[in-house]
Amino acid sequence: MSVRVIGEEDTVRLLPMAECIAAMEEVLASLARDELYNPLRSVIRPPDTTTLLGLMPAHRTGPNAVYSLKTICIAAGNRARGLDSHQGFVALFDGETGQLRTLVNASAITAIRTAAVSAVATKLLARPGSTTLGILGAGTQGRSHLEAMRAVLPIERVKVWSRTPGSASEVGDVEEVATPEEAARDVDVLVTATSASEPIVRREWLPDGVHINAVGSSIPTTRELDTATIVDAALYVDRRESTLNEAGDYLFPAAEGAIGPDHIRGELGELLIGSAEGRSSDSELTVFKSLGLAVEDLGAVELVLRRAEAEGGGVEVDL
Ligand code: NDP
Repeated sequence: MSVRVIGEEDTVRLLPMAECIAAMEEVLASLARDELYNPLRSVIRPPDTTTLLGLMPAHRTGPNAVYSLKTICIAAGNRARGLDSHQGFVALFDGETGQLRTLVNASAITAIRTAAVSAVATKLLARPGSTTLGILGAGTQGRSHLEAMRAVLPIERVKVWSRTPGSASEVGDVEEVATPEEAARDVDVLVTATSASEPIVRREWLPDGVHINAVGSSIPTTRELDTATIVDAALYVDRRESTLNEAGDYLFPAAEGAIGPDHIRGELGELLIGSAEGRSSDSELTVFKSLGLAVEDLGAVELVLRRAEAEGGGVEVDL
């Protein structure tokens, strides 16, 4: 069996942000139309370690049936080692024969598709013409989100806060600020992309009409936004089922009795197909809580494979 193995450099080249944003719109709309199967992911969390292993399967039926599976090991300490915190591969299988078609570097897929989904949310929810961006976190996601936000908005000013002073420049040509509050005040769009476990955003800092992409914290036991922010927000998610299962940003306020499932106004896919309401006024606070979905990896890996077959990329391996 011949399998195309596509490494990080080729994956980055074959998955330009603008094309990935379009691919994410397509899979999120398909998911909302029930054309894709996205079961909850399995997270393997052994005792006595801070690392974890995630298994994210998805399936599409029909004439182009496929299975995808992202196998991703998350090691938050990797940044200090000069390694990406997300390590692994995305596999794509033929849905008819079950044959493995490709294995693609998951660090690159995760970095790009996550930011592309936030770009979809930002197109749908931020006030048009927003020019000021705040980013909390200067790691992989902070960096990819700068590119994604610039792809959908005429960004003029970018303020970045990160826990380690001096690291904001890793995101790009941006203004480093000393506190999360400075990054959050007076912005049109705020991205939170840290590994913080306690809230790093407070409601009282946020200007009217800001849109937040809350990207860090993909697990039930951590969060980045305080309860008041979630309570006051029109809350949008990638998937309700996943949010209720594993989003600390939702689960903490819910456990406090501050919100319930009805607080979620819609999924991004529902906004895309017109079955959920968007922002109701220029002063409304909107939050997109991102967890990351297996169908996003499916859409990204299909795009990478299609382009690799057309333009060259990766190597054919006999498995
Ligand atoms: P990186 O390790 O590359 O960067 C993490 C950033 O968070 C760094 O700026 C780091 O600062 C900062 N940070 C770490 N601990 C804390 C803390 N306690 N308080 C404040 N800041 C902190 O990670 P990524 O960019 O790859 O991922 C960022 C977050 O996004 C993670 O939580 C990850 O799980 C999540 N994620 C979500 C995805 C989704 O689909 N929604 C997909 C991929 C990631 P310092 O330099 O000081 O360590």
